[in-house]
Amino acid sequence: MVLALQRLCTSAISCHNYQMFNWSKNRRRKRILTGPWPVAWETILTSSVGHFKGLSAIEQGKLRDITQIIVGEKNWEAHDGLAMSDEIKVTISGNAALLLLGVENYYFDHVSTIIVFPYPMRRETQDGLIVGGKTHHAGEAWQSGQVVLSWQDVVSDSRHAFDGRNLVIHEFAHCLDGIDGEMGGSLHFDDPATSERWRQVCNSEFEALKTAAQLGQPTLLDYYGATNMAEFFAVASETFFENPRQLKHQHSELFGLLVKYYHVDPRSWMPQIR
Ligand SMILES: [Zn+2]
Repeated sequence: MVLALQRLCTSAISCHNYQMFNWSKNRRRKRILTGPWPVAWETILTSSVGHFKGLSAIEQGKLRDITQIIVGEKNWEAHDGLAMSDEIKVTISGNAALLLLGVENYYFDHVSTIIVFPYPMRRETQDGLIVGGKTHHAGEAWQSGQVVLSWQDVVSDSRHAFDGRNLVIHEFAHCLDGIDGEMGGSLHFDDPATSERWRQVCNSEFEALKTAAQLGQPTLLDYYGATNMAEFFAVASETFFENPRQLKHQHSELFGLLVKYYHVDPRSWMPQIR
């Protein structure tokens, strides 16, 4: 995914400007990382990012660095009476950082703004009706660089690791998917053969999920993944980080490809089975 990102940057600006852009970006990040790591932030990671305590010491250090950069670099907005706080920023950044633990020098560069609402958003449909109830929007990721999240859902999903749901992971997986300019579920691996294998496995898993959803058969992957290929990747990522053992057991090749994509194996973060 880093290669895909670099391709996107070089096609957008000249090589010289790209180097200058990277130089100033790296300098800014170094400055952020020389800042203090507040004790209160450690408490937030420990209590609000369920995966944190299962990480190795090296991974915990990297997660702190990524968290610090995301908190420091993004524009943060709170709406509908919610007051922006370190708890909100660190909880969201710490969960998003899980997706980047195996990646070097990438910090959701194409996400500019994280917008947080206290509760799921209600949207007006085209015919003017208000959408509510079970069809509410807990989160959205826009190709233009905004991520919108319901704080209520962030809190309930992120405190407990490995319970199958994590809104932040879901929305930030969409952001990774969008690095190539389109959130469509097509991933770019280091070698073209693996990218092609992803396309094949993803298509066949998507079709199987769609059929199971139509027949009402129980599935590990949430039916929402049968909506389209973008949602399939976001749901598969959520399951990869939240239910890695079951995903490996039931969808072995999909799991293996996601290990290659994220460069981590979340099974090592889970409590050992005795
Ligand atoms: Zn989604």
